[in-house]
Amino acid sequence: MAVLGAGNMGHGITEVVALGGYDVTMRDIEAELIESGYEDIEWSVGKLAENGIVDDPDDVLARIDTTTDLAEAVGDADLVVEAAPERMALKKEIYAELDELAPDGAILASNTSSLSITEIASATDRAAQVVGTHYFNPPVKMDLVEVIYGEQTSDATAETAHDFVESLGKTPIYVRKDVQGFVVNSVLGPFMVEPAWMVSNDEATIQEADAAMVHQRGYPMGPFELADLTGIDIGYSVREEAGITNPPLIEERVAAEELGRKTGKGYYDYENGDGADYETGDGEGFDTLRVEARMVNEAAKLIGMDVATPEAIDTGMRLGAGFSEGPCRRADREGLDTYLDKLETLHEATGEERFEPADYLVELVENGNTGQESGRGFYEYEDGEPVSGGR
Ligand code: NAD
Repeated sequence: MAVLGAGNMGHGITEVVALGGYDVTMRDIEAELIESGYEDIEWSVGKLAENGIVDDPDDVLARIDTTTDLAEAVGDADLVVEAAPERMALKKEIYAELDELAPDGAILASNTSSLSITEIASATDRAAQVVGTHYFNPPVKMDLVEVIYGEQTSDATAETAHDFVESLGKTPIYVRKDVQGFVVNSVLGPFMVEPAWMVSNDEATIQEADAAMVHQRGYPMGPFELADLTGIDIGYSVREEAGITNPPLIEERVAAEELGRKTGKGYYDYENGDGADYETGDGEGFDTLRVEARMVNEAAKLIGMDVATPEAIDTGMRLGAGFSEGPCRRADREGLDTYLDKLETLHEATGEERFEPADYLVELVENGNTGQESGRGFYEYEDGEPVSGGR
Protein backbone atom coordinates (compact mmCIF):
# COMPACT_ATOMS: atom_id res chain seq x y z
CA MET A 1 0.00 0.00 0.00
CA ALA A 2 1.01 3.58 -0.55
CA VAL A 3 -0.77 6.67 0.69
CA LEU A 4 -0.08 9.99 -1.01
CA GLY A 5 -0.42 12.94 1.35
CA ALA A 6 0.36 13.10 5.07
CA GLY A 7 -2.28 15.77 5.77
CA ASN A 8 -5.54 15.43 7.65
CA MET A 9 -6.81 12.49 5.66
CA GLY A 10 -3.55 10.96 4.41
CA HIS A 11 -2.07 10.33 7.82
CA GLY A 12 -5.44 9.07 9.11
CA ILE A 13 -5.78 6.61 6.24
CA THR A 14 -2.18 5.49 6.72
CA GLU A 15 -2.94 4.73 10.35
CA VAL A 16 -6.11 2.84 9.45
CA VAL A 17 -4.38 0.58 6.93
CA ALA A 18 -1.46 -0.09 9.30
CA LEU A 19 -3.99 -0.97 12.01
CA GLY A 20 -5.57 -3.30 9.45
CA GLY A 21 -2.28 -5.19 9.18
CA TYR A 22 -0.98 -3.82 5.86
CA ASP A 23 2.49 -2.51 5.13
CA VAL A 24 2.14 1.06 3.99
CA THR A 25 4.37 3.85 2.75
CA MET A 26 3.15 7.40 3.35
CA ARG A 27 4.42 9.98 0.90
CA ASP A 28 4.25 13.78 1.02
CA ILE A 29 6.25 16.43 -0.77
CA GLU A 30 8.23 17.71 2.21
CA ALA A 31 9.92 15.98 5.13
CA GLU A 32 8.31 18.29 7.73
CA LEU A 33 4.83 17.46 6.49
CA ILE A 34 5.58 13.76 6.78
CA GLU A 35 7.03 14.24 10.23
CA SER A 36 3.98 16.10 11.43
CA GLY A 37 1.61 13.47 9.97
CA TYR A 38 3.68 10.66 11.45
CA GLU A 39 3.63 12.31 14.90
CA ASP A 40 -0.14 12.49 14.73
CA ILE A 41 -0.24 8.78 13.92
CA GLU A 42 2.10 7.97 16.83
CA TRP A 43 -0.08 9.97 19.19
CA SER A 44 -3.29 8.36 17.95
CA VAL A 45 -1.94 4.78 18.02
CA GLY A 46 -0.68 5.50 21.54
CA LYS A 47 -4.19 6.56 22.57
CA LEU A 48 -5.66 3.40 21.06
CA ALA A 49 -3.16 1.37 23.07
CA GLU A 50 -4.03 3.25 26.29
CA ASN A 51 -7.68 2.40 25.66
CA GLY A 52 -6.88 -1.26 25.09
CA ILE A 53 -7.86 -1.19 21.41
CA VAL A 54 -4.31 -1.84 20.20
CA ASP A 55 -2.03 -4.41 21.87
CA ASP A 56 1.32 -3.29 20.59
CA PRO A 57 1.61 0.24 19.16
CA ASP A 58 5.20 -0.42 17.99
CA ASP A 59 3.95 -3.29 15.91
CA VAL A 60 1.52 -0.97 14.11
CA LEU A 61 4.11 1.76 13.64
CA ALA A 62 6.63 -0.76 12.29
CA ARG A 63 4.32 -1.33 9.32
CA ILE A 64 4.57 2.35 8.31
CA ASP A 65 7.36 3.68 6.08
CA THR A 66 7.63 7.27 4.96
CA THR A 67 9.28 8.96 2.01
CA THR A 68 9.18 12.06 -0.15
CA ASP A 69 10.11 9.96 -3.18
CA LEU A 70 7.08 8.98 -5.23
CA ALA A 71 8.83 6.15 -7.09
CA GLU A 72 9.97 4.62 -3.82
CA ALA A 73 6.47 4.92 -2.32
CA VAL A 74 4.52 3.33 -5.15
CA GLY A 75 7.14 1.17 -6.95
CA ASP A 76 5.82 -2.09 -5.53
CA ALA A 77 2.38 -1.06 -4.28
CA ASP A 78 -0.75 -3.07 -5.07
CA LEU A 79 -2.98 -0.20 -4.03
CA VAL A 80 -2.29 3.53 -3.91
CA VAL A 81 -4.63 5.82 -1.99
CA GLU A 82 -4.22 9.43 -2.99
CA ALA A 83 -5.11 12.08 -0.39
CA ALA A 84 -3.49 15.16 -1.91
CA PRO A 85 -5.16 18.60 -1.95
CA GLU A 86 -8.53 18.94 -3.67
CA ARG A 87 -7.41 20.48 -6.95
CA MET A 88 -8.10 18.78 -10.25
CA ALA A 89 -4.96 20.01 -12.02
CA LEU A 90 -2.78 18.70 -9.19
CA LYS A 91 -4.59 15.37 -9.03
CA LYS A 92 -4.16 14.87 -12.77
CA GLU A 93 -0.45 15.58 -12.53
CA ILE A 94 -0.15 13.04 -9.71
CA TYR A 95 -2.10 10.36 -11.61
CA ALA A 96 -0.06 10.81 -14.78
CA GLU A 97 3.10 10.25 -12.72
CA LEU A 98 1.55 7.38 -10.84
CA ASP A 99 0.63 5.68 -14.08
CA GLU A 100 4.33 5.64 -14.98
CA LEU A 101 5.66 4.60 -11.58
CA ALA A 102 3.13 2.22 -10.02
CA PRO A 103 3.13 -1.46 -11.09
CA ASP A 104 0.84 -2.22 -14.05
CA GLY A 105 -1.62 -4.12 -11.93
CA ALA A 106 -1.89 -1.54 -9.15
CA ILE A 107 -5.21 0.06 -8.29
CA LEU A 108 -5.20 3.83 -7.90
CA ALA A 109 -7.81 5.09 -5.43
CA SER A 110 -8.62 8.74 -4.82
CA ASN A 111 -9.92 10.11 -1.55
CA THR A 112 -11.44 13.12 -3.29
CA SER A 113 -14.65 14.49 -1.74
CA SER A 114 -15.98 16.28 -4.75
CA LEU A 115 -13.93 15.82 -7.91
CA SER A 116 -14.82 13.57 -10.84
CA ILE A 117 -13.17 10.14 -10.69
CA THR A 118 -13.69 9.89 -14.45
CA GLU A 119 -11.67 13.04 -15.06
CA ILE A 120 -8.93 12.04 -12.63
CA ALA A 121 -8.71 8.64 -14.35
CA SER A 122 -8.37 10.31 -17.76
CA ALA A 123 -4.81 11.31 -16.79
CA THR A 124 -3.84 7.62 -16.87
CA ASP A 125 -3.83 4.75 -19.35
CA ARG A 126 -5.51 2.54 -16.76
CA ALA A 127 -8.90 4.17 -16.18
CA ALA A 128 -10.41 0.74 -15.42
CA GLN A 129 -8.10 0.55 -12.39
CA VAL A 130 -8.93 3.98 -11.00
CA VAL A 131 -11.62 4.23 -8.33
CA GLY A 132 -12.76 6.56 -5.56
CA THR A 133 -12.41 5.48 -1.96
CA HIS A 134 -13.84 8.35 0.05
CA TYR A 135 -12.89 8.03 3.71
CA PHE A 136 -14.54 10.34 6.23
CA ASN A 137 -12.84 12.60 8.70
CA PRO A 138 -11.26 11.39 10.96
CA PRO A 139 -10.62 8.06 9.20
CA VAL A 140 -9.69 6.24 12.40
CA LYS A 141 -13.08 6.98 13.96
CA MET A 142 -15.41 7.07 10.98
CA ASP A 143 -16.69 3.72 9.78
CA LEU A 144 -17.91 4.64 6.34
CA VAL A 145 -16.04 4.60 3.04
CA GLU A 146 -17.76 5.44 -0.24
CA VAL A 147 -16.42 3.31 -3.11
CA ILE A 148 -17.00 5.36 -6.24
CA TYR A 149 -17.04 4.23 -9.84
CA GLY A 150 -15.68 6.47 -12.56
CA GLU A 151 -17.18 5.87 -16.00
CA GLN A 152 -14.50 3.32 -16.84
CA THR A 153 -13.86 1.74 -13.45
CA SER A 154 -14.11 -2.05 -13.80
CA ASP A 155 -16.21 -4.14 -11.43
CA ALA A 156 -13.06 -6.05 -10.49
CA THR A 157 -11.39 -2.81 -9.37
CA ALA A 158 -14.42 -1.58 -7.42
CA GLU A 159 -14.87 -4.98 -5.79
CA THR A 160 -11.21 -5.15 -4.79
CA ALA A 161 -11.45 -1.66 -3.27
CA HIS A 162 -14.69 -2.65 -1.51
CA ASP A 163 -13.15 -5.83 -0.06
CA PHE A 164 -10.04 -3.97 0.99
CA VAL A 165 -12.12 -1.42 2.92
CA GLU A 166 -14.03 -4.26 4.55
CA SER A 167 -10.77 -5.94 5.54
CA LEU A 168 -9.97 -2.76 7.50
CA GLY A 169 -13.14 -3.28 9.55
CA LYS A 170 -14.84 -0.36 7.81
CA THR A 171 -18.17 -0.31 6.00
CA PRO A 172 -18.00 0.37 2.26
CA ILE A 173 -20.97 1.52 0.18
CA TYR A 174 -21.01 1.49 -3.60
CA VAL A 175 -21.53 4.76 -5.44
CA ARG A 176 -22.00 3.51 -8.99
CA LYS A 177 -21.57 6.84 -10.80
CA ASP A 178 -19.36 9.72 -9.83
CA VAL A 179 -22.13 12.29 -9.41
CA GLN A 180 -21.25 15.52 -7.65
CA GLY A 181 -21.19 14.97 -3.88
CA PHE A 182 -21.37 11.17 -4.28
CA VAL A 183 -24.01 9.83 -1.86
CA VAL A 184 -23.47 11.32 1.57
CA ASN A 185 -22.76 14.90 0.56
CA SER A 186 -25.56 14.84 -2.03
CA VAL A 187 -28.15 13.97 0.59
CA LEU A 188 -26.56 16.15 3.24
CA GLY A 189 -26.62 19.17 0.87
CA PRO A 190 -30.29 20.03 1.41
CA PHE A 191 -29.96 19.45 5.17
CA MET A 192 -27.38 22.26 5.21
CA VAL A 193 -28.75 24.53 2.52
CA GLU A 194 -32.54 24.49 2.79
CA PRO A 195 -32.56 25.89 6.35
CA ALA A 196 -30.18 28.61 5.10
CA TRP A 197 -32.72 29.52 2.41
CA MET A 198 -35.45 29.64 5.04
CA VAL A 199 -33.41 31.96 7.25
CA SER A 200 -32.41 34.08 4.24
CA ASN A 201 -36.12 34.45 3.36
CA ASP A 202 -37.06 35.36 6.96
CA GLU A 203 -39.10 32.19 7.26
CA ALA A 204 -37.12 30.88 10.23
CA THR A 205 -34.24 31.65 12.56
CA ILE A 206 -30.97 29.78 12.96
CA GLN A 207 -31.91 28.63 16.46
CA GLU A 208 -35.35 27.46 15.34
CA ALA A 209 -33.84 25.35 12.57
CA ASP A 210 -31.17 23.75 14.74
CA ALA A 211 -33.52 23.10 17.66
CA ALA A 212 -36.18 21.56 15.43
CA MET A 213 -33.84 19.27 13.49
CA VAL A 214 -32.14 18.05 16.66
CA HIS A 215 -34.95 17.91 19.20
CA GLN A 216 -37.91 17.10 16.97
CA ARG A 217 -36.27 15.01 14.28
CA GLY A 218 -33.36 13.41 16.10
CA TYR A 219 -30.39 14.61 14.03
CA PRO A 220 -27.10 14.61 15.95
CA MET A 221 -26.49 18.31 15.21
CA GLY A 222 -28.42 21.18 13.76
CA PRO A 223 -27.54 22.28 10.20
CA PHE A 224 -25.99 25.58 11.32
CA GLU A 225 -24.12 24.04 14.21
CA LEU A 226 -22.75 21.45 11.77
CA ALA A 227 -21.74 24.11 9.22
CA ASP A 228 -19.87 25.98 11.95
CA LEU A 229 -18.00 22.78 12.77
CA THR A 230 -17.08 21.82 9.22
CA GLY A 231 -16.40 25.40 8.04
CA ILE A 232 -18.99 27.49 6.20
CA ASP A 233 -16.51 28.18 3.37
CA ILE A 234 -16.02 24.47 2.62
CA GLY A 235 -19.63 23.77 1.64
CA TYR A 236 -19.81 27.17 0.00
CA SER A 237 -16.92 26.44 -2.41
CA VAL A 238 -18.14 22.95 -3.22
CA ARG A 239 -21.55 24.35 -4.16
CA GLU A 240 -19.99 27.16 -6.17
CA GLU A 241 -17.90 24.66 -8.13
CA ALA A 242 -20.98 22.52 -8.72
CA GLY A 243 -23.05 25.48 -9.95
CA ILE A 244 -25.45 25.30 -6.99
CA THR A 245 -26.60 28.75 -5.82
CA ASN A 246 -25.60 29.57 -2.26
CA PRO A 247 -28.32 31.25 -0.20
CA PRO A 248 -27.63 34.91 0.78
CA LEU A 249 -27.09 33.95 4.44
CA ILE A 250 -24.14 31.73 3.48
CA GLU A 251 -22.76 34.35 1.06
CA GLU A 252 -22.85 36.94 3.85
CA ARG A 253 -20.99 34.77 6.33
CA VAL A 254 -18.28 33.94 3.81
CA ALA A 255 -17.90 37.60 2.79
CA ALA A 256 -17.57 38.56 6.46
CA GLU A 257 -15.03 35.74 6.96
CA GLU A 258 -17.21 34.36 9.74
CA LEU A 259 -16.59 30.76 8.77
CA GLY A 260 -17.48 28.87 11.94
CA ARG A 261 -15.52 27.56 14.87
CA LYS A 262 -12.18 27.95 13.12
CA THR A 263 -12.62 31.75 12.98
CA GLY A 264 -14.31 31.99 16.39
CA LYS A 265 -17.58 33.03 14.82
CA GLY A 266 -19.95 31.69 12.20
CA TYR A 267 -23.66 31.28 12.71
CA TYR A 268 -22.90 31.25 16.42
CA ASP A 269 -20.28 33.13 18.40
CA TYR A 270 -17.67 30.86 20.00
CA GLU A 271 -15.43 33.57 21.38
CA ASN A 272 -17.68 36.17 22.93
CA GLY A 273 -20.86 34.12 22.98
CA ASP A 274 -21.95 30.66 24.12
CA GLY A 275 -21.58 28.85 20.80
CA ALA A 276 -24.66 26.96 19.63
CA ASP A 277 -27.14 28.46 22.09
CA TYR A 278 -30.47 27.02 20.96
CA GLU A 279 -32.84 25.47 23.48
CA THR A 280 -35.03 22.39 23.18
CA GLY A 281 -38.25 24.35 22.70
CA ASP A 282 -36.90 26.82 20.14
CA GLY A 283 -37.86 24.67 17.15
CA GLU A 284 -41.61 25.20 17.50
CA GLY A 285 -43.19 25.87 14.11
CA PHE A 286 -40.08 25.19 12.01
CA ASP A 287 -40.93 23.33 8.79
CA THR A 288 -38.81 20.19 9.22
CA LEU A 289 -40.76 18.39 6.49
CA ARG A 290 -39.50 20.89 3.92
CA VAL A 291 -35.88 20.04 4.75
CA GLU A 292 -36.46 16.30 4.90
CA ALA A 293 -38.51 16.31 1.69
CA ARG A 294 -35.51 17.73 -0.13
CA MET A 295 -33.22 15.06 1.33
CA VAL A 296 -35.66 12.33 0.34
CA ASN A 297 -35.84 13.85 -3.14
CA GLU A 298 -32.05 13.68 -3.42
CA ALA A 299 -32.14 10.05 -2.33
CA ALA A 300 -34.82 9.30 -4.94
CA LYS A 301 -32.69 10.94 -7.64
CA LEU A 302 -29.70 8.78 -6.70
CA ILE A 303 -31.77 5.60 -6.77
CA GLY A 304 -33.50 6.63 -10.00
CA MET A 305 -30.13 7.23 -11.68
CA ASP A 306 -28.77 3.87 -10.40
CA VAL A 307 -26.10 5.65 -8.38
CA ALA A 308 -26.93 3.89 -5.13
CA THR A 309 -29.42 1.56 -3.50
CA PRO A 310 -31.66 2.66 -0.61
CA GLU A 311 -29.55 0.45 1.68
CA ALA A 312 -26.34 2.17 0.57
CA ILE A 313 -27.89 5.61 1.06
CA ASP A 314 -29.25 4.78 4.51
CA THR A 315 -25.99 3.18 5.63
CA GLY A 316 -24.09 6.15 4.24
CA MET A 317 -26.19 8.68 6.12
CA ARG A 318 -26.07 6.75 9.39
CA LEU A 319 -22.34 6.10 9.37
CA GLY A 320 -21.14 9.11 7.37
CA ALA A 321 -23.39 11.80 8.85
CA GLY A 322 -24.44 10.24 12.14
CA PHE A 323 -28.16 10.17 11.27
CA SER A 324 -30.13 7.95 13.63
CA GLU A 325 -32.17 6.68 10.69
CA GLY A 326 -31.54 6.77 6.95
CA PRO A 327 -33.76 9.01 4.81
CA CYS A 328 -35.16 6.11 2.77
CA ARG A 329 -36.31 4.15 5.81
CA ARG A 330 -37.70 7.27 7.42
CA ALA A 331 -39.59 8.27 4.28
CA ASP A 332 -41.00 4.75 3.93
CA ARG A 333 -42.23 4.82 7.53
CA GLU A 334 -43.81 8.22 7.20
CA GLY A 335 -45.20 7.80 3.69
CA LEU A 336 -43.58 8.85 0.43
CA ASP A 337 -46.77 10.66 -0.59
CA THR A 338 -46.33 13.11 2.30
CA TYR A 339 -42.88 14.05 1.00
CA LEU A 340 -44.02 14.23 -2.62
CA ASP A 341 -46.97 16.47 -1.66
CA LYS A 342 -44.62 18.78 0.16
CA LEU A 343 -42.27 19.04 -2.81
CA GLU A 344 -45.12 19.63 -5.26
CA THR A 345 -46.64 22.34 -3.08
CA LEU A 346 -43.30 24.11 -2.68
CA HIS A 347 -42.47 23.75 -6.36
CA GLU A 348 -45.80 25.23 -7.38
CA ALA A 349 -45.59 28.07 -4.87
CA THR A 350 -42.01 29.12 -5.60
CA GLY A 351 -41.17 27.77 -9.06
CA GLU A 352 -37.76 26.88 -7.60
CA GLU A 353 -36.05 24.02 -9.41
CA ARG A 354 -34.69 22.57 -6.19
CA PHE A 355 -38.20 21.47 -5.21
CA GLU A 356 -38.94 19.69 -8.47
CA PRO A 357 -39.83 16.12 -7.52
CA ALA A 358 -37.54 13.37 -8.76
CA ASP A 359 -39.10 11.18 -11.46
CA TYR A 360 -38.46 8.08 -9.39
CA LEU A 361 -40.32 9.48 -6.37
CA VAL A 362 -43.29 10.40 -8.55
CA GLU A 363 -43.23 6.93 -10.14
CA LEU A 364 -43.24 5.15 -6.79
CA VAL A 365 -46.17 7.17 -5.46
CA GLU A 366 -48.15 6.94 -8.70
CA ASN A 367 -47.80 3.15 -8.54
CA GLY A 368 -49.12 3.10 -5.00
CA ASN A 369 -45.70 2.29 -3.56
CA THR A 370 -45.98 4.86 -0.80
CA GLY A 371 -43.90 3.10 1.83
CA GLN A 372 -44.00 0.55 4.58
CA GLU A 373 -47.76 0.63 5.04
CA SER A 374 -48.37 -0.23 1.38
CA GLY A 375 -45.72 -3.00 1.51
CA ARG A 376 -43.36 -1.18 -0.82
CA GLY A 377 -41.66 2.18 -1.03
CA PHE A 378 -37.93 2.64 -1.41
CA TYR A 379 -37.77 -0.82 0.19
CA GLU A 380 -39.98 -3.86 -0.08
CA TYR A 381 -41.48 -5.01 3.22
CA GLU A 382 -42.42 -8.34 4.68
CA ASP A 383 -44.04 -8.37 8.13
CA GLY A 384 -43.08 -4.73 8.59
CA GLU A 385 -39.38 -5.36 7.94
CA PRO A 386 -37.50 -4.12 4.87
CA VAL A 387 -36.29 -7.12 2.89
CA SER A 388 -34.80 -5.50 -0.19
CA GLY A 389 -34.54 -2.13 -1.76
CA GLY A 390 -34.13 -0.35 -5.03
CA ARG A 391 -35.55 -0.31 -8.49
P1 NAD B 1 -4.54 18.40 3.56
O1 NAD B 1 -4.27 19.70 2.92
O2 NAD B 1 -4.66 18.29 5.04
O3 NAD B 1 -3.40 17.36 3.11
C1 NAD B 1 -2.97 17.22 1.79
C2 NAD B 1 -1.51 16.84 1.81
O4 NAD B 1 -1.11 16.43 0.50
C3 NAD B 1 -0.60 18.01 2.20
O5 NAD B 1 0.22 17.61 3.29
C4 NAD B 1 0.21 18.26 0.94
O6 NAD B 1 1.54 18.68 1.19
C5 NAD B 1 0.19 16.88 0.31
N1 NAD B 1 0.54 16.87 -1.12
C6 NAD B 1 0.53 17.87 -2.02
N2 NAD B 1 0.96 17.42 -3.21
C7 NAD B 1 1.26 16.10 -3.06
C8 NAD B 1 1.77 15.10 -3.92
N3 NAD B 1 2.06 15.35 -5.20
N4 NAD B 1 1.97 13.86 -3.41
C9 NAD B 1 1.68 13.59 -2.12
N5 NAD B 1 1.19 14.51 -1.27
C10 NAD B 1 1.00 15.75 -1.73
O7 NAD B 1 -5.86 17.85 2.85
P2 NAD B 1 -6.87 16.74 3.41
O8 NAD B 1 -7.94 17.40 4.20
O9 NAD B 1 -6.11 15.61 3.97
O10 NAD B 1 -7.56 16.29 2.04
C11 NAD B 1 -6.95 15.41 1.15
C12 NAD B 1 -8.01 14.85 0.21
O11 NAD B 1 -9.01 14.19 0.97
C13 NAD B 1 -8.72 15.88 -0.64
O12 NAD B 1 -8.99 15.33 -1.89
C14 NAD B 1 -9.99 16.12 0.14
O13 NAD B 1 -11.06 16.55 -0.67
C15 NAD B 1 -10.27 14.73 0.67
N6 NAD B 1 -11.11 14.65 1.88
C16 NAD B 1 -10.96 15.53 2.90
C17 NAD B 1 -11.76 15.41 4.03
C18 NAD B 1 -11.60 16.33 5.21
O14 NAD B 1 -12.53 16.42 6.01
N7 NAD B 1 -10.48 17.02 5.36
C19 NAD B 1 -12.69 14.37 4.12
C20 NAD B 1 -12.80 13.47 3.07
C21 NAD B 1 -12.01 13.62 1.95
